[in-house]
Amino acid sequence: MQALERVMDSGWVVLGPEVKAFEAEFAQSLGAPHAVGVNSGTDALVIALKALGVDRESEVITVANTAVPTVSAIRMCGAKPVFVDIEASTLLMDVSKVEALITERTRCIIPVHLHGLSVDMDPLLAIAQGHQIPIIEDCAQSQGAEYKGKATGTMGSMGCFSFYPTKNMGAFGDGGLITCQSETHAEAMQQLRMYGFKGDGYAHREGINSRLDEIQAAMLRIKLTHFAESFSTRRKLAEEFHERIQNPQLRLPLEPEGRMHAYHLFVIHCEQREELIKHLQSHHIGFGIHYAVPIHRMKAYEFLDYLPGSLPNTELAADSILSLPFYPLMPEQDKEQLFQVLNSFR
Ligand SMILES: *Cc1c(COP(=O)(O)O)cnc(C)c1O
Repeated sequence: MQALERVMDSGWVVLGPEVKAFEAEFAQSLGAPHAVGVNSGTDALVIALKALGVDRESEVITVANTAVPTVSAIRMCGAKPVFVDIEASTLLMDVSKVEALITERTRCIIPVHLHGLSVDMDPLLAIAQGHQIPIIEDCAQSQGAEYKGKATGTMGSMGCFSFYPTKNMGAFGDGGLITCQSETHAEAMQQLRMYGFKGDGYAHREGINSRLDEIQAAMLRIKLTHFAESFSTRRKLAEEFHERIQNPQLRLPLEPEGRMHAYHLFVIHCEQREELIKHLQSHHIGFGIHYAVPIHRMKAYEFLDYLPGSLPNTELAADSILSLPFYPLMPEQDKEQLFQVLNSFR
């Protein structure tokens, strides 16, 4: 309420001192050189892509097992998404299959740190460097996650974050942010989020409107001071899930050596998913599926011409994954009931 009042009293409602302070504090929390606040995670991706010069002549390599906005952002720049299959084990971009998809039109690679687990970045960075192709990390689900001690969002040229209310650090509405390594990119993105202006009413490049609100920034500054605590609560909760869920029918999420999972979601695999769903429903336990239909199999993206079976691991995973109820303030009683119901599934 104090933060709200501070903004109300100031009369400055978009892209003001709160946004500036939040950008600096967020960048510092990750060890990123620059941060640019925008209106959403989708816009973060669009603006990052535009800053790299991605246009309708470009191809962008990413995965089909992601949230729709990863792909719609590429399309908003007019570019062609090129999908690489995922690893069956982690559900993340199969980095070993990326190089074969690079063409002279490839302008960017977007690894998605889905569910909060970092993609295997070292081999991907080596490939990208070899071909001089920049990487934009989709960090919408991975705030706090690390790879070999480095925060996601600090390894590629840019990292895109979302503060949609259900994300690991949700705003009270929409919000997003881009971290980046170079000052040139930071300046370009500051212009892109505001009609291409440098504060002068003159379009230096073709921009959009994607301003972050002062109210959201003021709220997020407070959330940021609590982030480490809520992150460690998530990690402890995940540890408890790993200890207490003991059922050979259920495969729990992996956390490969050297990676710190942010556990945005706790996603399990079950070959008999339909039976598991009935079992959960009969005990009134909610669940989610992230994601039930891979993007290349959705009607809106039929025109990309990916046939069934073209991304085998992606399609197989979509049929067996299930997200459990999982959030830092989950009551003890709900946890106990969940463990009991999962362990009694046959
Ligand atoms: C949520 C999400 C986005 C988009 O973020 P918004 O703030 O909702 O626009 C992009 N990528 C992934 C992986 C997401 O989960």
